[in-house]
Amino acid sequence: MNDTCTTEGCGRATSLYLCTACIVELDELLQDVPALISFLAYVRAGTAVPKKPGGGGGGHPGSREPGSVDAMLLQAWLGQLPDRAHTAATSDPEAGRKLYMARIWVRQARSLVWGPEEEQINHSELRERVRDIAPPMPTKELVPWLKAKAGIIVKAKDIRNWAHRGKLKPVERGLHPTYHPHEVLNAWHDTRV
Ligand SMILES: [Zn+2]
Repeated sequence: MNDTCTTEGCGRATSLYLCTACIVELDELLQDVPALISFLAYVRAGTAVPKKPGGGGGGHPGSREPGSVDAMLLQAWLGQLPDRAHTAATSDPEAGRKLYMARIWVRQARSLVWGPEEEQINHSELRERVRDIAPPMPTKELVPWLKAKAGIIVKAKDIRNWAHRGKLKPVERGLHPTYHPHEVLNAWHDTRV
């Protein structure tokens, strides 16, 4: 068979068409494919997407655009992916190319179905990381900071609202109260599940 992985830029030694790391990656991508194919039908129909299993997602604004043509193409493309990563690794000389396409198509489909900001955010890991690196900040610093560091959009009025409802406790009170960024992330995440 082969001596190196067929994924472009990988080159790890393997007796199959994919190395172990690429099999694991492809397997992870393929797990979402059946759900994405069926949810893309909702996108095509212009109806709200059901909640993602295990929380997150849902039919929030952004998940229904750019619309049905993309959804139809993605359904067709996702349908061309192999059912199982291991089968591709043992029997498909083009397995590396399948992984390459799966990376693009699954990411696009997740973004269309579940909304771009939901993709690939590991919320608990993100909060751990933020707790370690970020001091308390006032709202006007928090908004751009969260956007730059965590890739999420939080509005100043959301933060004030969470504080008002007791979901968020200021570290320092006063005219410009400060908040722990990881607690803002907690509150943000709570509003989305
Ligand atoms: Zn590989």
